[in-house]
Amino acid sequence: MGATKLYTPPGYRILDVEGLRGLVSSLSLRSQLGGDPESWDIVEVGDGNLNLVFLVKGPNSGFAAKQALPYVRLVGDSWPLPLSRSHYEHAALSRQAEHAPGLVPAIYHYDETLALIVMELLDAHVIMRHGMIAGIVYPEFADDISTFLAATLFNTSTLAMPAEDFKGLIEEFAGNTALCKITEDLIFTEPYMVAGNNRWTSPWLDGFAEMIREDADLKCAISRLKLKFMGSPEAMIHGDLHTGSVMLTPEDTRFIDPEFAFMGPMGFDIGAIVANLLLNYFSQIGHEETAGARDGYRTWILETVEAVWTLFRCKFLDRWEACESGDGYPAALFGDPFGSAALARERGAFLDRLFQDTLGFAAAKMIRRILGIAHNIDLECIEDAEIRATAEARSLMLARDLMVNTECYRDIQAVSAAARRINGLAPALRRP
Ligand code: ADP
Ligand code: MG
Repeated sequence: MGATKLYTPPGYRILDVEGLRGLVSSLSLRSQLGGDPESWDIVEVGDGNLNLVFLVKGPNSGFAAKQALPYVRLVGDSWPLPLSRSHYEHAALSRQAEHAPGLVPAIYHYDETLALIVMELLDAHVIMRHGMIAGIVYPEFADDISTFLAATLFNTSTLAMPAEDFKGLIEEFAGNTALCKITEDLIFTEPYMVAGNNRWTSPWLDGFAEMIREDADLKCAISRLKLKFMGSPEAMIHGDLHTGSVMLTPEDTRFIDPEFAFMGPMGFDIGAIVANLLLNYFSQIGHEETAGARDGYRTWILETVEAVWTLFRCKFLDRWEACESGDGYPAALFGDPFGSAALARERGAFLDRLFQDTLGFAAAKMIRRILGIAHNIDLECIEDAEIRATAEARSLMLARDLMVNTECYRDIQAVSAAARRINGLAPALRRP
């Protein structure tokens, strides 16, 4: 994978616990932690695929320090990946903090040469994926993510921004090509062909994997989505907004890890979260002690899927109605009563198209987690392969229909109804 050379700028070095201790003791952050550097508790916890993450705790406070490596952590130095992803993560976190205050970790220090971001320690928070596997309800989540999505997507689009600033933003993120290429390959291409990175629950899903590789309608649909991903700089998107990028408590939600950020289609972010909620919904069969024990939780998940979209739509429209700064729909054209009525209809049509994009991208995100390289723990931790394959096959069935028959889904309730129906079906699995 990756033909590029491993490049590190002068001054870059990979930090270990002692390296970080030495570095921090020379920064003003030192006093924030308190105590002697020797007394600080530092551990490396990165459970992600790409980077190092250290948690540092002193007597007074703590922080998290994330360092990019010049390669993909999961694979090693045979797969180079530019350190600049840290630059884009920092840039995106800064913009998100501006538009959605309180919903991302605060940044304390940034070192471009070391590709190091030092940020607020989310100590009481857990990764949402883990919380959902444990069956924890997050009553504030739908409200928080819909605020985050509406604020970051609307404010970085040219519905809100003057054209010149908007183009500046496109330029600012245009260089994040290596991370985009990962998405282009691993989400939009490889799951639909024979590729070395692919894996699935075999032999149970062999028939499903083959069907998808031979499904011309699906391959047209995923390519249409890929084209949209590559050629639609609608807004600054997070780019990897799955439930592993959400850290939360029942009261507080934070969105982390925007290293894939770039100017792309809004539906990609909304679809990512919808997909991961739906994957977790189907995975519940593998997490309940007895059949039906998680039915209440299943209901909460689908209510959350519905609320994410419904609240997002309202909040996005509210922002649009209150905003006159964007060059997209010049306020000067719509001042009279006929104009404002037409614009109201136009806004509704925009959100309807965004809904369709959201479903297509959600489907793409579901399929890649089952047939591609990177699976998610919601499904992976189900030990019984037949049960896991059942959950995965149901996810594929819904995803295939969402992607190819997108226009049949008129509203988000149609999506949750389809999920509920498919969750009651027995997929035709290939037995060992
Ligand atoms: P990667 O980009 O390598 O996937 P992430 O940003 O997802 O890295 O972080 C990896 C893990 O580190 C997270 O799953 C979480 O457990 C931990 N982590 C990241 N940021 C913080 C933070 N601000 N506070 C506490 N833990 C964090
Ligand atoms: Mg990451």
